[in-house]
Amino acid sequence: MSEITAPKSPVTAEQFADEIREQLKYAQGVTVEQATPADVYVAAAVAVRHHLMDSWMQTQHDMVNGTTKAVGYLSAEFLMGKQLRNALLNAGLTEQYNAAIESLGFNLQDVVDTEYEPGLGNGGLGRLAACFIDSLASLGVPAFGYGIQYKYGIFKQEFDKDGKQVETPDYWLANEEPWGHIDYNRSQKVSFGGKVVKEGGKKVWKPAWSVRAVPVDYMVPGYASGRVNTLRLWSAKAEDEFDLLTFNRSEYLSAVKPQVKAENISKILYPEDSTKEGKQLRLEQQYFFVSASLHDAIRVFYPGESKPDLTTLPDKIVFQLNDTHPVIGIPELMRILIDEYGYDWDTAWSITNKTFNYTCHTLLPEALEVWPADLIGELLPRHLEIIEKINEQFEAELKAKGVGAVTIKDMAIYTGDSVRMAYLATYGGSHVNGVAELHSQLLKDVTLKNFSDVYPDKFTNVTNGVTPRRFIKLANPRLSDLITEGLGTDKWLSDLELLKGLEPLAADDEFVRKFAAVKQANKVDFANYAKREYGFDLDPDTMFNTMVKRLHEYKRQALKILALIARYADIKSGKLSADDVMPRTVIFGAKAAPGYYLAKMTIQLINNVARVVNNDPDVKGKLNVYFPWNYNVRLAQHLIPATDLDEQISQAGKEASGTGNMKFALNGAMTVGTLDGANVEIRERVGAENFFLFGMTVDEVDKLYADGYGPRKYYEADPRLKAAIDMVADGTFSNGNKDTYAPLVSDWLSKDWFMTLADFHAYTAIQSEIEALYAQPLEWNRKALINVANSGYFSSDRSISDYLERIWHTGPLPALA
Ligand SMILES: *Cc1c(COP(=O)(O)O)cnc(C)c1O
Repeated sequence: MSEITAPKSPVTAEQFADEIREQLKYAQGVTVEQATPADVYVAAAVAVRHHLMDSWMQTQHDMVNGTTKAVGYLSAEFLMGKQLRNALLNAGLTEQYNAAIESLGFNLQDVVDTEYEPGLGNGGLGRLAACFIDSLASLGVPAFGYGIQYKYGIFKQEFDKDGKQVETPDYWLANEEPWGHIDYNRSQKVSFGGKVVKEGGKKVWKPAWSVRAVPVDYMVPGYASGRVNTLRLWSAKAEDEFDLLTFNRSEYLSAVKPQVKAENISKILYPEDSTKEGKQLRLEQQYFFVSASLHDAIRVFYPGESKPDLTTLPDKIVFQLNDTHPVIGIPELMRILIDEYGYDWDTAWSITNKTFNYTCHTLLPEALEVWPADLIGELLPRHLEIIEKINEQFEAELKAKGVGAVTIKDMAIYTGDSVRMAYLATYGGSHVNGVAELHSQLLKDVTLKNFSDVYPDKFTNVTNGVTPRRFIKLANPRLSDLITEGLGTDKWLSDLELLKGLEPLAADDEFVRKFAAVKQANKVDFANYAKREYGFDLDPDTMFNTMVKRLHEYKRQALKILALIARYADIKSGKLSADDVMPRTVIFGAKAAPGYYLAKMTIQLINNVARVVNNDPDVKGKLNVYFPWNYNVRLAQHLIPATDLDEQISQAGKEASGTGNMKFALNGAMTVGTLDGANVEIRERVGAENFFLFGMTVDEVDKLYADGYGPRKYYEADPRLKAAIDMVADGTFSNGNKDTYAPLVSDWLSKDWFMTLADFHAYTAIQSEIEALYAQPLEWNRKALINVANSGYFSSDRSISDYLERIWHTGPLPALA
């Protein structure tokens, strides 16, 4: 590997400028004078890749040739956010680049602004995967992220004149995409359908059709680690283009069909919660990327070996299944080992079992994937046989352990009609983890209780985290500077627990004032951003109160909007004198799955409440509501640092962890929240007196379900709640049309599965406490600073360290010379 030179020594701005000039000229064919910021962006990105190339090769070399086990993070989503600034930060090149780009007559921000965000995820789960690969590289742990390069990411959201969500396709690859390298020479063949036949006493799968999985490689530079890992996203291409030539002209169109069908596999990212749509295509996607990734790992770790000793596979790589989406990997690895490499069942099982681990991300039973057996049988007949056999072995094992017949039936992986992917993952892998303490406990007590009873040692917790590089340093440069000033070092960026050192400064009024000034400046920035991007007029002298996350009933955007309407009514009716009202700007951001009717209606309601409230002179300056469309990582990076109060108000027991809550706490927002997900741990760490807690606990929720929940009782008992719901029903927010929100109102009054009405009173009651504190800016900011100081635990570096210790049993590559 002599062509790897030592990772490049610090380069100068002049060298970068030259590289960009060369790239512009020889690859893009434009002079610096002709170049637009978009041209410079592409050239700059390519130059960054060049600069990272040696470290990338070195990392792969050390990974393949050393003894450190690698991590394969299998995830259907990676919600990366923009790349340029992040790559520069992690590689320590920001200053040289700024200077280089300026010397060419451009401004880095203009260049960065032309970058288009890849939306290859729905929300928290995809963003978690992106934070994790950042942390793996930053800790120097060799790793692959494996996923799908969707042609269309999560839809772009717009609102029509009625305030309804309109989805438009996100064709992100229409723009030049300089980060991903398409490597046709490392393609994998992935097959589907057909049947299983017996040949010489052996089962042989004769698939009906195949596609070519082409890897698109993204470099993942670690922060200050000198290591660069790989995010390998698979793109589907027709398998055998040559075949087309055998067709004559008249058959040309039908000959192209298989190609179109093949390329459909990686065409779109499925919106979460749209479970009915495209089931088959979704299973095809899952198998497609997992099969390609497993074969790829064998190619990487046993280069050139036709008969590799795959019993060593668990020493080379450990796979983490990010939710149930990649779980088909378990029978796939069994099939590869038995059918392709000739291992016996028990050896194959032992290898597979040691190689996989499973992260569960939900408590909602409907979100645990269950596939109809006939669908699997049609698409992956050999895998269905293997799953049946796994299930037989599992039942025998349970029986031997003395588990009763009824329980065994309850635990079936394969029921005869369907395959339960969460159960397959729990049995098939070494460890199962939830994503926050409370969630992991509920997995053991409820969702996977039988499994935890039989295999208690498999279960563990890893609380989620977020990367401080993107979500503090890049998103909030002012706070970053202040933290560095306060701590006297910037080492906190790779050791976030150091934030604890800020705690004594909370007693220092001067420091707290500086902290408050950072927030104020961020609010002015966001107001300018919102004006430029959305045409909104936000007043930075009001409290910025934010609720951003996917729209889902369990997250309870409805609770926020009903409380807001009640407040609006109080001001209008004079019950609350305008002088007593703490001025607030409420900001929502949320996409709803296209097929999720009530969620979309909630969006429409929020938009129309915003329209009515913002145009009502009676509440002018007291209450404003804004809903910037198309919530994504970019908007998160702008909005979170500008937020005073964030909302984490899901029904207790429903949000597995949340990561938005962590981003806000780390950026000095105060949180109003329930005892759900990681809120519990945030509150424990920052202190109960620095967190606005309200609402029912998991136990109270359970009891209320058990007693028979009737929402109407709460409506009748609370005149403010009644007034708010009545306003939605009577057409106040629909130009007098009483039908517009009827389904929503009816759901609230008759079902309200997530108990919004039951928590309404507690939620509105805590607002006076919030406002009393906000009226004392110094005290508010002191508490917000204490939140920052005590949230270092929520770094994704800590999450990854926990995975390394509890689940993966590996660590960093040897230090670079
Ligand atoms: C962090 C993040 C999420 C997750 O937010 P939650 O409040 O934890 O649901 C979703 N979308 C984007 C763009 C994010 O950055």
